[in-house]
This record gives sequence, structure tokens and C-alpha cells, in this order.
Amino acid sequence: MVETSFDIVIVGAGHAGAQAAIALRQNKYAGRIAIVGDEPELPYERPPLSKEYFSGEKSFERILIRPAAFWDERGVTMLLGKRVVQVDPSSRIVTTESGEAIGYGQLIWAAGGTPRALSCPGHDLAGVHSVRTRKDVDRILANLDGAARIAVIGGGYIGLEAAAVLAKAGKQVVLIEALDRVLARVAGEALSRFYEAEHRAHGVEIRLGAVVACIEGEGEASGVRLADGEVIAADLVIVGIGIVPAVAPLIAAGAEGGNGVAVDRQCRTSLPDIFAIGDCALHANRFAGGAPIRVESVQNANDQATLVAKTITGQELEYDSVPWFWSNQYDLKLQTVGISAGHDVAVLRGDPAARSFSVVYLKQGRVVALDCVNVARDYVQGRKLVVEGLCPDPAKLADPGTPLKELAGA
Ligand code: FAD
Repeated sequence: MVETSFDIVIVGAGHAGAQAAIALRQNKYAGRIAIVGDEPELPYERPPLSKEYFSGEKSFERILIRPAAFWDERGVTMLLGKRVVQVDPSSRIVTTESGEAIGYGQLIWAAGGTPRALSCPGHDLAGVHSVRTRKDVDRILANLDGAARIAVIGGGYIGLEAAAVLAKAGKQVVLIEALDRVLARVAGEALSRFYEAEHRAHGVEIRLGAVVACIEGEGEASGVRLADGEVIAADLVIVGIGIVPAVAPLIAAGAEGGNGVAVDRQCRTSLPDIFAIGDCALHANRFAGGAPIRVESVQNANDQATLVAKTITGQELEYDSVPWFWSNQYDLKLQTVGISAGHDVAVLRGDPAARSFSVVYLKQGRVVALDCVNVARDYVQGRKLVVEGLCPDPAKLADPGTPLKELAGA
């Protein structure tokens, strides 16, 4: 039996879900909106979880996406602490874990993903943590005082940011990465080597090409055993090896997809009146050469949410936003625009030793992405090169004295 129903039900109270509701109201949508989220908190920003919230520089209140009163004022019903486990597209009902049935006119699936767990023995021992939710981070913080040695598994952005905060807090940190460089999936070699050197300079021990065999410990993690037999002692283990998109109820209901739920240029799934946005949405992205990808960034979550709100309110648009991302480690501000995967040339612009430089990635002569470290000007001016797929002279790109806006024809 349907207990409640809404014109729009948004599943997931994260970045994408919150922005969908905000943008619907901004676009004068007057129907009843509910956000169903399995976390108990109002929508909050996730990036600070491995940065300012983790380091204690920002309180939880400061990372709320909007204050509590905002949702009441906008007439957005928050159904929190409720996990949707079933979607019935024919009767337009979602059902929560506790059996509550919620009817919808249109459904926006914005459920993000859950941290990928290690598959080795010991992965579920106490003291093995992930960094996805406030609860995850609070649990780490509650155990930090007694932890001198910390192993971080995974050399992606989240692992590196966590390592930076912990190193600054005086912890002995060992970062374990299975591939032969950190950030291997998202950046070129120059950037990887730069960050490895920075972390080493801050006392982080980095193990590359290191495969985890198991987490050791009796009831609680005491170390990480590598495939070569070495055991790295650790009082606490943080695992940052990516996410699994949270799409099971939609796929079970017949939506196309697998690694995410497949959506078209308006973020519609293959099921009637069901959209999907954010980390879980598998979409053809022009900046990945049209390949279906999921983009895990605040930009993508916000832009897809805004697009769906505009689509629902009658505007005809297609998703075409350029991906951008940032990462803060120590005093280094990285800004990334575009997707560098598949590049054939990487042009270094500036001197990494000066801790202010960019890497411009080209594919068949066209600029496909930039990584800018402590040089916001390149990021701002370089966006146009990526958006328009321009083909500047690599020698000029390499010259930090030539502003990128000159090469973009501005
Ligand atoms: P989420 O924000 O994850 O929200 C999804 C919500 O849905 C969650 O609350 C989840 O619990 C809930 N949910 C899942 N399943 C269900 C269900 N069945 N029923 C009800 N609720 C459900 N991006 C950047 O651009 N820059 C950064 O610096 C950056 N740093 C990051 C640092 C960390 C530690 C993390 C974890 C992510 C970071 N990201 C960063 C990525 C960014 O936070 C995500 O891309 C963004 O949060 C995606 O938004 P989303 O709404 O798709 O998913």
C-alpha cells in the first residue's frame, strides 16, 4: 500500500540529489518533491571528508549544502535514514528497507556509490575504514588518537588527500598502491611523480606496485600483508580503491546498465520517467570521445542535476558539460579540466620544482585536458582549449610566459 506520494521523488540526499531539488525550485517547479536518503544527515559536501572536515578545519555545520531551514522554505520533504531497496516502474512506487512504499510521478536516481571493499582475507576486520560518508570519517577520527601507524591502500585522490591530512597530523603513513605510480588512472606520469615526491617530502612512505594479500589481525587490523610476504604494521587501515555505483534496485527493475545505470543525453534511464544523475549515471561524454563513462565529481553531479530539473520544467537541453575537478593536498591546489585518459602527448608548462605548473594533455594535436597545480590562471584560461578542442602549438603551450588565453584566440 502506498503510504505517501510525491510528484518527484529523488533517491539519494547527496550532491546530485540536493542540487536537483534546488534547481527544480529555481526553475519554478511547483509540484511536491521528496528526497529519500539512507544517511541520517541533511545533504552535505563530500569533498571536505578527506580534506577540511577530516583535518578538523571545518565543522559539520559548515559543510552542509544548505541550512536545515532552506529545505522547509522550499517545500522539499526530507525522508532521511531510509534506504530504497526496490523500484516498481509500472506502479511508480519505491519501497524502503523498512517496507515503506512511496509513490512517485517522476523519479530521479541520485544514489552515488558505495566504497569498493578489498576482496582479500581480513578486509572486514575492525580498524579497516573507508572514506565516503560522515559516519566513516567520524569513525576514523574516533580511533585516531591511539593510532600512530596508518596504512592507506589506494593512491587515488581520496587516498592521497587522507595521507596528506594524516601526515600533517604527525602520523606515520604508508601509502600502498598496486600500480607503478599514484593517480595512474586519472593523470599523466609527470603529475604522479610530482605528488609522490611531495608526499615523500612530508614523510609519507609510498609503496608502488604493491599488491595487498590480506589484512592481518586478531579481530582488529594490525597490519597489511603484501603479496611478496612483507607485513606493513598498521594500527589503522584506510581503503580508497574506488566506488561501486549504487544502482542495484534500478537494474533489478529492468534499467539498462551495469557499471552504473545507462542514461541518454537528458539523463533519462531506459525506464519510463526515471532519470539518473551523478556518480551512478553512465553517460556518453563528449570529453571522453563519446564513450559511456561515469564521472565522479561535484561538477558532474551538479550539472546533471540542473539539466534534469530544466528538462522536467520543459527546457530542451543535452548534457555537454566539460568535466572539472579539484584536489587539495598540503598547500597544493590542483585543478583539472577535461579527461586526460587516452592522451598521446603531455606538455609540461612551468617547473614542478617551483610547485606551480600545469600539464597540458593532447590527443591527435587537440587539447583534451589540463592539470594545473597552484596556477589557477592556466585552469581558467585553459578551459576554452578543452571545450573547443583547440590545437595550439605545443612549443607555445610549454612556455609559461605565453598566456593560454592567447592560444585560445581570446
Ligand atoms: P553522493 O554524494 O555519494 O550521494 C548519494 C547519496 O545517496 C548518499 O548519501 C548515499 O548514501 C545515498 N544512497 C545510496 N543508495 C541509496 C538508496 N538505495 N536509498 C537511499 N539513499 C541512497 N569531487 C570533486 O569534484 N572534488 C573533490 O575534491 C572531491 N573530493 C572527494 C572526497 C571524498 C572523500 C569523496 C568520497 C568524494 C569526493 N569527490 C570530489 C567526489 C564527489 O563527492 C562525488 O562525485 C559526489 O558526491 C557525487 O554526488 P552524488 O550525489 O552522485 O553521490
